Amino acid sequence: MKYYSTNKNVSDASLQDAVIKGLASDRGLFMPEKINKLPQSFFDNITNMTLQEISFEVAKAFFGEDVEEDKLKEIVFDTMNFDIPLVSVTDKIYSLELFHGPTAAFKDVGARFMARLLGYFISKEKKDKTVNVLVATSGDTGSAVANGFLGVDGIKVFVLYPKGKVSEIQEKQFTTLGQNINAIEVDGTFDDCQRLVKEAFMDEDLNTQMFLTSANSINVARFLPQSFYYFYAYAQFKKLNPSIDPVVCVPSGNFGNITAGLFGKFIGLPIKRFIAANNRNDIFYKYIKTGVYSPKPSVQTIANAMDVGDPSNFARIIDLYKNSHEDIKSEISAVTYDDKQIADAVNQVYKKDGYLLDPHGACGFLALEELLQPGEKGIFLETAHPAKFKDTVEPIIKEEVAIPENLQGFMKGVKDTVELSGKYDEFKKFLLNNK
Ligand SMILES: *Cc1c(COP(=O)(O)O)cnc(C)c1O
Repeated sequence: MKYYSTNKNVSDASLQDAVIKGLASDRGLFMPEKINKLPQSFFDNITNMTLQEISFEVAKAFFGEDVEEDKLKEIVFDTMNFDIPLVSVTDKIYSLELFHGPTAAFKDVGARFMARLLGYFISKEKKDKTVNVLVATSGDTGSAVANGFLGVDGIKVFVLYPKGKVSEIQEKQFTTLGQNINAIEVDGTFDDCQRLVKEAFMDEDLNTQMFLTSANSINVARFLPQSFYYFYAYAQFKKLNPSIDPVVCVPSGNFGNITAGLFGKFIGLPIKRFIAANNRNDIFYKYIKTGVYSPKPSVQTIANAMDVGDPSNFARIIDLYKNSHEDIKSEISAVTYDDKQIADAVNQVYKKDGYLLDPHGACGFLALEELLQPGEKGIFLETAHPAKFKDTVEPIIKEEVAIPENLQGFMKGVKDTVELSGKYDEFKKFLLNNK
């Protein structure tokens, strides 16, 4: 299958090129040129299938033309080897728990799939080339990418994070791994980390000396596999509610996760409608209300993985709906919540329903509570385990939050990082010395 750029100024790429490059050379985002619908027989049987089986059928629709069937099956089964249960929170609202993977956040799915597919494509090129993955993180992305890519041949990962600005539990998840994972502590903010990565991608001299790519949700191999669990959520929902289709609510930052859900609907998944839940970074909410997209600098909130002022996957949504604000509005509604509303939801749902939300999932729960119409039921994506945001959640509920087993192992590891000042020249020198 060919992949075109949302900016439409370059010729189409193969899946292999799109995955290795990440971003098209006109700075656009890659999009698959065709959307293969899944057959009705798949949906007739979906409630009898496992997460891995469902994911493999969906993966074939997207990647089946470009990856041999047994290889694709191996990649999918390897990626999706943890449970993603649908848990009832109230009689109308379900939580899709995406936090049972290695780093307890939904980004595990995309990062693990991308690592395996990229590793496979590099081995096919047989050029003895090392691909260097640069990733700037404020916490969650770094841990998912580092763990997803750990030990993959032909790939080196450099995780840049702001010194002293990520929680201990997050830091341990990408600074204790060793092998092909390098953690760089930058004396500065997340924006400084992102600036260093961007400068490296633009630096022609550096790019002739080493091959660089990114692992954020602009990469098709990272964002598209996230559609797998929408199908599994639907299958679990259907068993409980055979006569209605779910409303699905996605706590959103860069909009990779919800875009994967939209692709799921385009290939046939019967989702009634979507809701994008925002924190105070309400760019998409304003776009839905007014039809005008005006990015602005992000503001800090307690749902910080959604602190994004210019969501990168917005370009994909616009492209999917051929720039029709009407069509986008009829398919996706948007809401925005401030820190107090988020904290109140975490506290109230815990006290009343006995379910502990993380601050991101709380936005999703609130949105369903506010927007579900009579007769509708909804699923929100619980994007991370509340223990990942212990420092925020504990003062809200005034209780300790136990660290789940999948995260406890990291706490025993020893931190190993390199400290850099935030000056680009120093970063470049470090990369060249470590290629
Ligand atoms: C990354 C992240 C989000 C936002 O997902 P996008 O795909 O960027 O919209 C939401 N919640 C958590 C916990 C995250 O880590």
